[in-house]
Amino acid sequence: MDLAAYAAHDAQTRGRRHAEPPPGFRGQFQRDRDRIVHSSAFRRLIYKTQVFVNHEGDLYRTRLTHTMEVAQIARSIAVALRLHETLTEAICLAHDLGHTPFGHAGQDALNECMREYGGFEHNLQSLRVVDELEERYAEFNGLNLTFECREGILKHCSLNNARQLGELGRRFIERRQPGLEAQLANLADEIAYNNHDVDDGLRAGLITLSQLRDLPLVARHLHEVQARYPGLGGRRLVYETIRRMINEMVADVIESSAERLAQAHPASIDDARAHGSALICMSDALREDNRQLKAFLGESLYRHYRVRRMTRKARLVIQDLFGVFIDDAHLMPDEHQVAAQGLEKTLGIAGRARAVADYIAGMTDRYAISEHERIFVPAKRS
Ligand code: MG
Repeated sequence: MDLAAYAAHDAQTRGRRHAEPPPGFRGQFQRDRDRIVHSSAFRRLIYKTQVFVNHEGDLYRTRLTHTMEVAQIARSIAVALRLHETLTEAICLAHDLGHTPFGHAGQDALNECMREYGGFEHNLQSLRVVDELEERYAEFNGLNLTFECREGILKHCSLNNARQLGELGRRFIERRQPGLEAQLANLADEIAYNNHDVDDGLRAGLITLSQLRDLPLVARHLHEVQARYPGLGGRRLVYETIRRMINEMVADVIESSAERLAQAHPASIDDARAHGSALICMSDALREDNRQLKAFLGESLYRHYRVRRMTRKARLVIQDLFGVFIDDAHLMPDEHQVAAQGLEKTLGIAGRARAVADYIAGMTDRYAISEHERIFVPAKRS
């Protein structure tokens, strides 16, 4: 591995919360990645919604395939910039572990339910999953990941929460950057979802190619494909266009970041953290094109009435579940009752609410729906 000076280096990790002997045959960040892949939260991503609810069709992205696309895009860029590929991959694979069922609709609903109890941020929840909620090891809770990986998972966080996170929260208070692998994972997330949401939106018939022609980022590639392959239509036309869009974005991030890195010349990961702004970036021109694409998706896809209906149903399911469990924690399965009792002892009702939120956030879409039926439909088995 030919790592740049500004990359994360295994030997210089800030370490884990609980001391462990170094891994024998793998690097520190390889161990992080492997632990994430073996976690149960990771397996659940397959049945969690990205934009389209899981049962709408088998070809849409789920949280798992989204996660894999993010990792794959980020790894290409990491290698080109001589960043730590495996750390980058680990951060990407863990970045959505804390997501609720039903995508952003679920996150917003749970945040509303938790308003009086400290709120709910899926990003913070991803950290909570790897720090506390996974139960796999005899000697500690969570996965005990490296500082660098945890720093990458916590993309954003309110100042209030940052104050409670010690070392990890400090950068939000001091307005510093995370390491470059973390910056990259963040950007790769955006590249992945903007592109795959175009694909999924077209497949669902919620947006059309002719609408997309007004967006420069799509239009230039669509024209190129049509000029090169006259008569090409259907899925192939869409795929040929989207793969060019991804390619342009990846190439742009590599070029723009390399330029910034050459100017700033960070001599270490700490130098990169101390830099006034992110060093992994898009060019101004691409950022503007990307902003337009995002705005279009926001208006035409995420607010389409069919997506709104899903959103509405998701909110009802989450609100109902939260309502009954906060009312009577004894309706939750045993292990979650135990967690609720434990947290309530130290934090009072906010503790019970946190345990309910942990239970709900961990659900897959289909589990949430069947749990809702078990509780609210009298004829169902409980
Ligand atoms: Mg994501």
